[in-house]
Parts: sequence; structure tokens; C-alpha cells
Amino acid sequence: MTIEHEVKRRRTFAIISHPDAGKTTLTEKLLLFSGAIHIAGSVKARKASRHATSDWMEIEKQRGISVASSVMQMEYRDCVINLLDTPGHQDFSEDTYRVLTAVDAALMVIDAANGVESQTLRLLQVCRARNTPIITFINKLDREVREPLDLIDEIEGALGMDVVPFTWPVGSGKRFHGVYDLRHQLMRVFQAGLDHAEQESTTIVRDLNTSEIKQRFGAPLEQAQQEIALIDGATAEFDQAAFLAGQQTPVFFGSAINNFGVQEVLDTLVDLAPPPGARSAIQREVSPTESKFSGVVFKIQANMNPAHRDRIAFVRICSGEFKRGMNLKVARSSKSVRTSTVVSFLSQRRELLETAYAGDIIGIPNHGTLQLADTLTEGDELQFTGLPFFAPEIFRTVEIADPLRSKQLKLGLTQLGEEGAIQVFRPHLGSILLLGAVGVLQFEVVTHRLKHEYGVEARIAPAKYQLARWVTAENPRELQRFIAANTHRIAYDAVDAPTFLASFAAEISVAEENWPAIRFHKMREHS
Ligand code: GDP
Repeated sequence: MTIEHEVKRRRTFAIISHPDAGKTTLTEKLLLFSGAIHIAGSVKARKASRHATSDWMEIEKQRGISVASSVMQMEYRDCVINLLDTPGHQDFSEDTYRVLTAVDAALMVIDAANGVESQTLRLLQVCRARNTPIITFINKLDREVREPLDLIDEIEGALGMDVVPFTWPVGSGKRFHGVYDLRHQLMRVFQAGLDHAEQESTTIVRDLNTSEIKQRFGAPLEQAQQEIALIDGATAEFDQAAFLAGQQTPVFFGSAINNFGVQEVLDTLVDLAPPPGARSAIQREVSPTESKFSGVVFKIQANMNPAHRDRIAFVRICSGEFKRGMNLKVARSSKSVRTSTVVSFLSQRRELLETAYAGDIIGIPNHGTLQLADTLTEGDELQFTGLPFFAPEIFRTVEIADPLRSKQLKLGLTQLGEEGAIQVFRPHLGSILLLGAVGVLQFEVVTHRLKHEYGVEARIAPAKYQLARWVTAENPRELQRFIAANTHRIAYDAVDAPTFLASFAAEISVAEENWPAIRFHKMREHS
């Protein structure tokens, strides 16, 4: 009974957006409206330090800070809402994709002046592949922005799903008067610059057709009314099932910095976003309300103190109840994990956690026992699927000044590889490790950490190869044959899965033609 009740009131989501669309601002306002923080500005402060410089100390600081702030929990209307931060900007990496596998819904924030931008598109693709339900917030209506009809069209095209406006803007920029709530048929009047949650003070207008209102809001209201009449016939009715299947997105307009439209988003998360659902393991489907605990590691982050070299594994609870001190097993290695020091994440504080349920994220400090995609259970044989590893888009090798440090280099690279900070490939022939990444900043972080945590001065050098594909075959003999015939192009990843390396895409096509029994994958799931 408790588990069912607790699972039902969980909402776990992430915000996807392009840099500067307003993710940080909206995050802060959501925390403010739910009462998790009381003063605007605290989330912003951390962001300011993130932007200040990309110098090494900053990266250190940023890593430390982002451990604490990468999961935020808030309570609102009897729901426990977990908001997972998706690293953006230059530090964009595979982590971002993996975080999206740990959520049950996504909130897409769009800058009304810019529409759907490149990074939003990349993240959207991941959500679409998983049919994650998406709620859309169009931000910055207090600025001179694009026509709402035009924006809706663009979003519909980019998402490839039906867009259902729940609110509609009345004007924009200096003449932004508010939004018309299409479901409740009333207008909420915009008021600039409220710095705390004062939704009660919002003026509501129910009858738009009085002469006083018409005069007050003038041409923008007239235009909004025409547009509303237009979309009324042209857009689909909201359908909860279609939303949950990732086929429809409800759309809201507002201005995060002015606290306008934020409450509707929070209410929609509670009312429409799904509680945790069943998750697929190789063995079976796992229901969130099963009494036994299970969870999956979707992110690993080095701890704040590099000298200790301990790491925090971020675990999404998939079923059951977590109790501090309980004994958990890693399904891959059958090793036990101590959970007496497990942490939860609330706003900027990290605190020890007593209990948690499916949908929640817990942080388990460990010294390398836990790897990405590991499944934790009370002893059951389970391996969750679906955690993606992407074929790197950039390759480098490392050179070291002092050959006596090569052991440390290897250790460092192996551990950083397990953490997912970088992908490390061991060639079939030779001993020079190959590093692969999705974003270049990953290499900078790796050289920095090799120096500070492992005492290795390493230099990143260009690599011969530019592409990799994981190779599999139904018949293991075929795979052996392929590997034997291509030894100079084969390398093994952190879990010893073989990959085929190439300098040009054409080489992969040729290999595909010549070896029909071999499959070439851009993405690898679970270990
Ligand atoms: P992020 O990069 O997506 O996290 O974006 P931020 O939340 O940091 O916002 C980027 C910039 O847009 C900041 O200068 C914000 O103050 C500003 N901003 C955010 N929301 C609004 C809004 O509703 N209206 C206006 N005019 N500016 C906003």
C-alpha cells in the first residue's frame, strides 16, 4: 500500500532546451513555487560561476557544484517531483543523453524569439526515440518575439507530434498582456517582475467581451481572439493517452523571469505527467510497485574531493523501497554495495537519505564497484536495458612525457572510462589506448583530471581513426572471423565489446557490404 501510494505521487522529469532559452531561470522558479527554495537567485548564482571561465579550477568547481545540483527534489501538491539537470553548453556530452533515460517526462523550454534550436533538437531525438511525454513551455513572451502561430507550426514540424495549446498569448513584448487559458476559458493578466511566488495575486478576467476589457487590451486581444478561433478548429483535442505515448504535447506560453506561466507548468507536471512506469530488463518487465528494490546506474560522477577518488553513482530507483543501510547487489559482478552513506539531492543541499521509492534518484558513493548501466537489486538476477552508449564522434590518443607514469595513465584512463567521462578503447594490436568522445570538452576535462587525480602529464594527440561501430553477429564464429581479418581496425571498449574503427564513412559501408553477417551499431545498450 505505501509503495503504491509513494510511486503514484512521484514525477521525475528533465528540462530540455537550447542554451539561454531559460532553463536555469525556470528551474529556479519551479523550486520557488514549490517552496523548495525561498529566495530567487540561488540557482542563478551557481550558473554565473559556471559561465565565468573555462579554466581548470572552474571545471573542478563546476564538477563539485553540479554533483549537488544535478538532481533536485521538491514537493508540490502532495507530489514528490524530481528534476534532473541535463548538462548543456560546452560540457554537452553523452551524460546528457543518459540522464534522459532516467526520467519519465521532459519539459521543453523554447525561446519565443528563436523557436526550436539545434541542441533542443538533439535532445528531442532522444526523447522521441523513447516516446517520452513532452510538455512545452514557450518562454520570454515579455520580449518582442515571433508570432505564436508560426512557433506552433515550427514545433509541430520539429517534434513530429501534435501540438495542443493549453494557453495562448495576448500580445508580446511591451504589449504582452497575459495568456488566455483555453481549458478554463479565462485570461490571466501579466504583471512584470514578481520576485516570489504570488500566483494568488494574478488578475483573472473571465469575460473578454466587455468594452472595458477590449479597451484595456486593444489590438493584441483582438488578434489573440482571432488566432484562438483559428487554432480551435485546426489543432487536436488533448488526449491523455496520446500525450503519454509521446504523440501530443501540451503547450504553454509565459515568461519565466517574471514568474508568469510557471504555476501552470508545475500543475501540469502533477496532473498530466506520468508516475514511474514499468521498466525493461533482459529477464522481464519490472513494475515500480514490486516490493523488492531495483535500480539502475545512469550516471557516475567523481566526487568533490579528487584526493579521495571516490565517485557517486546516480541510481534511478526502478522498483520497491530503498531503506538506508540495506544490502544491495550489483547484478553484473554479484558484489555487495554498502548503502549506509547514500545521499539524496535536494536543491543545493546533499543530505543523507532514509527512504526512497521508484522514480527517486539516490547517490551511492563507491570506489569503482559501480559502473554505468549496472543494475542493483536485493539479490535478484536482473539487468535493465536501455542505457545508451553512443559511438564517439571524435577520437584522440594520449601521449605522456614521463614513460614511468604509464601505469598511472592506464589506471586513470580506465577509471575515467568506467565513469563515462570518456570512452576508452583498447586496440586489438598495439598498446596505445584510443580515446573517444562526443564533445571536445571531454578531452580537456580528462587531461585536467589525469594531472590532478593521477599525477600524469598527458598530451592529447590526433588519432588516425574518426569513426567507430560496435560489431556483433548472431554466430560468434562469424564475429571471430571478422575480427581476425580486421585486427588492425579492431578495438575493445570498457566492457570489452569489439568495435570496428574507420577513418571515413565509406570504409564502414564497404565493410558492411563485404560482411553481411556482421552488424554495425552506432549505439550500444547496457553492459
Ligand atoms: P539557460 O541557459 O537555458 O539556463 O538560460 P537562463 O535561465 O540562464 O536564461 C538566459 C537569459 O535569458 C538570462 O539572461 C535570463 O535572465 C533571461 N531570461 C530567462 N527567462 C526570461 C524571460 O521570461 N524573459 C526575458 N526577457 N528574459 C528571460
